[in-house]
Amino acid sequence: MPAKPSVQAVGICHKRVGDLVVTAINDGYLDGSLDLVTQVSKDEAAAAQRASCRSIPPRLTINAFLVQADGGRPILIDTGAGTNFGPSGGKLAEGLKLAGVEPAEIGTVLITHAHPDHTGGLAAGGSAVFSNAELVLGQAEADHWLADGALERAPEGARPYFQGAQAAIAPYKGRLRTVSSGEVVPGVTAVAAPGHTPGHTAYRIDSAGQSLLIWGDIVHLPGIQFALPGAGVVFDVDGKQAVETRRRMFDMAASSELTVAGMHG
Ligand SMILES: [Zn+2]
Repeated sequence: MPAKPSVQAVGICHKRVGDLVVTAINDGYLDGSLDLVTQVSKDEAAAAQRASCRSIPPRLTINAFLVQADGGRPILIDTGAGTNFGPSGGKLAEGLKLAGVEPAEIGTVLITHAHPDHTGGLAAGGSAVFSNAELVLGQAEADHWLADGALERAPEGARPYFQGAQAAIAPYKGRLRTVSSGEVVPGVTAVAAPGHTPGHTAYRIDSAGQSLLIWGDIVHLPGIQFALPGAGVVFDVDGKQAVETRRRMFDMAASSELTVAGMHG
């Protein structure tokens, strides 16, 4: 009987969007629980998860996205979990290698929000992994996590999240740009999508008549939240606003027949 390899190979998936190539890079996964679900009953959540043929407890993939254009430096959207959740995450570097891109080549890192499964790959040993990149973050996100006194004002239980966000972003001091909405780099537009976090931002890619909306954490549990958009997760900073934003994004994507991609699936 052959031995089962102890490590699953990293998954990457290329997609053309107009003149650009977008590559989804799987950073790994998080093992979840139906206890993460808020605003609907556990029974409703379980029924939706079962109806979509997904496992209970749920497993959440973690994704980042690489955007490449002719003549431009590569753009990275989110950076995965790094070492924050043990060996099931932190595969971004391997994925970039498979895509033929060195971290030092990345020109811009766009962050959807400053949770540890999105900013975990930014720094290693206190240094910037993307040594030549500008870092772009929602203004409200920077205000929430990085403002003077934010850590001290945070409830005790939330402090590790503030410390984590600050440590991940600190090495990019002097090359951090905050945005609210509108074009952030040619062909990429920030779309404010607050609720999960105050400055949670989706990025819309438009090129030669084709579009892709990379919507961050609008959906954590596809089996549950597509069927029940009113279902939140315990990590939502403002659960009510997160639901409103999810419904708005679903409407926008459906009415403009927009292809979407997310960080969890
Ligand atoms: Zn996330």
